[in-house]
Amino acid sequence: MICPRCSNEKVYKSRSHNFFEKVLTKFLNQKFYRCHKCGWRGLLKFDTASFFKDKVQVLAIFLSVFFALILGLLLLRYLNK
Ligand SMILES: [Zn+2]
Repeated sequence: MICPRCSNEKVYKSRSHNFFEKVLTKFLNQKFYRCHKCGWRGLLKFDTASFFKDKVQVLAIFLSVFFALILGLLLLRYLNK
């Protein structure tokens, strides 16, 4: 996440301070972030793209391990004949 005020690349998730903020984050699908460099605090869209990217990477690793295992088993069967 990038700070909209000073373009600092390190902004930190900030907890909702009251009920109104909690409701706001739920409805807008956004989260409060705080920049430690300039002190900015506000709502930013939850980074679903990178979240999804992580999931895809995990899935790709899982699938490659799975296929390697199957290939190994088939190879063992073939060699034992
Ligand atoms: Zn900032």
